[in-house]
Amino acid sequence: MRSRIIRSLLSLLCPETCAACGEVVDGDVGFVCEKCRERIAWVERPFDADNAANKRLYMTIHRTTREEEGTTAQEGRETLAVAFAHYIDKGLTYNIVHAFKYGHRPNVAVEAGRMMGRRMKEEGRFVRDIDCIVPVPLHERRKSRRGYNQAELLARGIGEVTGLPVESGVLERRVNNVSQTRQSAYGRQSNAEGIFNVRFPNTLEGKTVLLVDDVLTTGSTLGDACRTLGLIEDVRVKVATFAVAGGY
Ligand SMILES: [Zn+2]
Repeated sequence: MRSRIIRSLLSLLCPETCAACGEVVDGDVGFVCEKCRERIAWVERPFDADNAANKRLYMTIHRTTREEEGTTAQEGRETLAVAFAHYIDKGLTYNIVHAFKYGHRPNVAVEAGRMMGRRMKEEGRFVRDIDCIVPVPLHERRKSRRGYNQAELLARGIGEVTGLPVESGVLERRVNNVSQTRQSAYGRQSNAEGIFNVRFPNTLEGKTVLLVDDVLTTGSTLGDACRTLGLIEDVRVKVATFAVAGGY
């Protein structure tokens, strides 16, 4: 009772707003209002093998070119990467990502993770064989500046809904690479080489892991994380991001 009074007093003083549109929302609804949840530019069939995230990551990992892309995405191939929303400049997804990445709203990331988890649970097939979730790590310095790693919070949200455990300490980031937006595509590619490291590899031996990050852009960072995890004996890696930028 008392906590409810305190909560309603707090919401009067600093009302919770929707991370996508900025409208005031009831604290119980979450951090994205119902209207925005419907209006988000969701990826139509995220679990299809020819979804943009799957094709792009496949290309990055296997170092194929755009011309070869068409031939690599045959039907029937198992989907290894999924992304749930289109990242459109200044769109709703962009606002949500900015709220948890730069707006100090960690709860929004957990909520986005729950949305991802619900979609995965509904579909079933994609998560059925997954043993645990591994968030893409941030470099410690960047994490302490932000106060949290948003990928870890997305993973927590997915874990809440699917019941899958989160393994945060296994994958480690060695280099604090400079902001990727300031670099050319070539710079990005070479800069992302070997930036991850696996600690306690036997924790993941023989397992299928779900690697989680916020936005899939070029795929080079995620591709590198996949390759690093792939060094563990008998491990299988699947990837899920909240959003995918461009290429659809
Ligand atoms: Zn809204």
